[in-house]
Amino acid sequence: MSEKLLTDAALNVKETFDKIKKAAESAGRNPSEIRLMAVTKTVAPEKINEAIEAGCYLLGENRVQELLEKYESYDKRAEIHFIGRLQTNKVKYIVDKVSMIESVDSIKLAEEIERRCAKIGKTMDILLEVNIAEEESKGGFSAEEIIDVSEKIKNFPHLRLRGLMTIGRFGAEIEETRQYFEKMRHLLVDIKTKNIDNIYINILSMGMSADFEIAVSEGATIVRVGRGLFGARKYV
Ligand SMILES: *Cc1c(COP(=O)(O)O)cnc(C)c1O
Repeated sequence: MSEKLLTDAALNVKETFDKIKKAAESAGRNPSEIRLMAVTKTVAPEKINEAIEAGCYLLGENRVQELLEKYESYDKRAEIHFIGRLQTNKVKYIVDKVSMIESVDSIKLAEEIERRCAKIGKTMDILLEVNIAEEESKGGFSAEEIIDVSEKIKNFPHLRLRGLMTIGRFGAEIEETRQYFEKMRHLLVDIKTKNIDNIYINILSMGMSADFEIAVSEGATIVRVGRGLFGARKYV
């Protein structure tokens, strides 16, 4: 088949996989440790399905309403993670649809996920969101809180702590971003060391279109890419 027959989304997926591979290899990492997530906000399901068809089997959803509207149209081979701000009263709509909630930013939210998952007999993988740049406007735990929070989460039978997620700071210079990602890597080691039952704690979700290669070189295991796969977002 000629390359020309590939859609833009499919081509971008292939290019992004190549870039991840290069960044991993130059950091001495195995590229298979890194998953590419297609961030779907504002993108039509047909386009998302092109990315899945091209081999990107992980989707990231920001908004509950949008997920509910698009869910049935998605190619069922894909796995879905929730990555946006999540209000406790919306948890019930998504627990059966996602395999991981990456944006756990309060104990209250963790409690509600626990409650809803207990009801349907599911154990949910979660990441703790870290506000690594300590921005007032942003959700997430501070780096200092993470150990305490992970100790608390351990007692929730329907939650499985898998690691950490961060957004970084918009507009940060490369060097600043690299330092945040490096801090995240150390923080992951810290919670692994502190948690006896730590075999599942191995996920670091960081890096977006502008900085995923830096994230890979600093240890990311999930990179979340939106515009880099689907072009600029059109908000309506
Ligand atoms: C939108 C978004 C992304 C992707 O951002 P791009 O710049 O489009 O790659 C990643 N993570 C989260 C949490 C987002 O909201």
